[in-house]
Amino acid sequence: MTNDDVMRWLERTADVLHENRTYLTDLDSAIGDADHGINMDRGFSAVRDRFPTMATMDISTRLRTVGSTLVSTVGGAGGPLYGTAYLRAAGVAAGKQELSSADVVAILEAFLGGIVARGKAQPGEKTMVDALTPALASARQALDEGATLAQITNRAAAAAEEGMKATIPMLATKGRASYLGERSIGHQDPGATSSWLILRSLAEACEGE
Ligand code: ADP
Ligand code: MG
Repeated sequence: MTNDDVMRWLERTADVLHENRTYLTDLDSAIGDADHGINMDRGFSAVRDRFPTMATMDISTRLRTVGSTLVSTVGGAGGPLYGTAYLRAAGVAAGKQELSSADVVAILEAFLGGIVARGKAQPGEKTMVDALTPALASARQALDEGATLAQITNRAAAAAEEGMKATIPMLATKGRASYLGERSIGHQDPGATSSWLILRSLAEACEGE
């Protein structure tokens, strides 16, 4: 994955989160406070504003800029959680001019690790962790099987989508949705949905590889 591919990932993410802002906010209106789409779109619009200055940055600095921008512009749980994820991903990419398949899997691991470190959610609590955990497992398995980067990221995105759908019957025990108790059951988690969109964007950026 080249620096240009990373840029395409970030551009695609900003586009997709903008296109899906109403969808994400509708999901959050069922079990939260109806702002997840607004939060993610605000954060990635601020990231988009920094694209011109990112032109001369290396991969790690770009990812760090995304992380710090999300932390400083997104209110709500999503900002610090995703912000930490991108900051941890930046750490993995430090000093690298290009990312191997193993590096990309290590970035996914760091991304999930940042969210878990910050939010302390375990799988099954109806959060973004429920999309990212199976995504990482599938990416690792694909890497071990010698798959291409396009296949690895595609399988990660597919597993994230399954994980996202699997949040529907879950009882929320973290974040705002947990205030609803049993009434959180039967709704898809907005954060798991944005995590799937972020991974789908990654797969699309790696398609040409
Ligand atoms: P807020 O809940 O503050 O309004 P958002 O609406 O932007 O923030 O984000 C809600 C999403 O954040 C949830 O759908 C869930 O996936 C995720 N989330 C909330 N708390 C946690 C946590 N402790 N760990 C991981 N993800 C969490
Ligand atoms: Mg919300």
